[in-house]
Amino acid sequence: MKPFAFARPGSVAEAVREVSAEPNAVFLGGGTNLVDHLKLGVARPDLVVDVRTLTSRETTDTDDGGLLVGAAVSNSEIAADRRVRERYPVLAQALLAGANGQLRNLATVGGNPLQRTRCVYFQDVTTACNKREPGSGCTAVGGYTRYHAVLGVPAALPDATAADTCIATHPSDMAVALAALDAVVHVLGPRGARTLPFRELHRLPGDDPSRDTVLGHGDLVTAIELPPLPMAARSTYRKVRDRASYAFALVSVAAALDLDGDTVRDVRLALGGVAHVPWRATRAEEVLRGGPATEHAFRAAAEAELAAAQPQPGVDGGNGFKIPLLTRTIPATLRDLTEGATS
Ligand code: SF4
Repeated sequence: MKPFAFARPGSVAEAVREVSAEPNAVFLGGGTNLVDHLKLGVARPDLVVDVRTLTSRETTDTDDGGLLVGAAVSNSEIAADRRVRERYPVLAQALLAGANGQLRNLATVGGNPLQRTRCVYFQDVTTACNKREPGSGCTAVGGYTRYHAVLGVPAALPDATAADTCIATHPSDMAVALAALDAVVHVLGPRGARTLPFRELHRLPGDDPSRDTVLGHGDLVTAIELPPLPMAARSTYRKVRDRASYAFALVSVAAALDLDGDTVRDVRLALGGVAHVPWRATRAEEVLRGGPATEHAFRAAAEAELAAAQPQPGVDGGNGFKIPLLTRTIPATLRDLTEGATS
C-alpha cells in the first residue's frame, strides 16, 4: 500500500478546505470501499481526511414531512429507523439486501452512493481500465461482462482501446432506492453549500469514465434528504443475484406504486445492475401512469424501458440474459405491490 498522510480535522468546513487544497486527497467515511482500494492499489492518495465524526449522525423530520439523514448515519441505523421502514420501505429493503451486518454498521449514508464499480478489471491494477487509468483502454469489452451495463451504453460502442469506453455498472443498492424516491443530496464544497437532485448525482461515462459523479474535488456529501412521498409507503426492492448470500446485483428493481382501484395513479421505478448510474426507468413509468395495473401492462412497461438495451458479448456468454431477466423482474416487483391492493 502506498503511504499517505492522515488528517482528522475539527469541522466539516476544515475537512473540505484540506481536501480542496491537496489535489490527491480523498475523504474517508466508513471506509468499506476505500480501504479495499488502498490495499489493492486502485486508490493511491497522498492525503486521507477522516470525516466520519464530523458529518451528522442524526436523522431528523423535515417541516414538509420528509427526512433529513446525516451523512455519517450508518446503513444499519437508517435501515432500522422506524420512520424509514414505514414511510420508505424500499430504502430499508435495499440497504438490507446490500451488505451484511458488519458492513452496514460501518458504511455511511454519505459514502454508500459514492462506492465505486465492482468491475473486476477496475479492481485489478494489472489490466487496462479507463476508469482507473484514463486512456488505458477497457478490458471488459469482449471480456467478463456478466455484471456490466446494458442501458446507457452507446449503440455503437467504441472499441476496447478507445479512451472513452466503459461499460461498468454502479454497485449501490441504496442508490437505486434513492433514485426512485427522488432524494436530494446536500453537498458542502469549496464554493459553499448546495443541493442537487439525487438523480443528477451520478453520470454516464461520456468522454471521461473516471468520473462516477458530478461532484468536484473537495465536494463532501453532508446529508441525504428524503422528500415527502406518501406513495412510498407502498414500495419495495427486489434484487436478483448469483447466490442467496450477499452479492452485487445482476439486476434489481426499486418500485413505489400509487393505485386508484385497478388504475396506476402514479409510479416510481429505478433499476440497478444495468447501467453506469442508478437507472430511473422513466419510459416504463410513462407507460404505466394512468393505465391498468395488470400483468400485461407491467410487461409492456418493462419492454418499453428495455427497448434501447445493448447487451454486451463476453467470454462468459455476455450479459444479454439481463434483458429477459428484467422483463420478468420488473412485473414481479410491481406485482408484489399490487397483490391484495386492487379490487
Ligand atoms: Fe474499467 Fe469501465 Fe472497462 Fe471496467 S468497464 S474495465 S471499469 S473502463
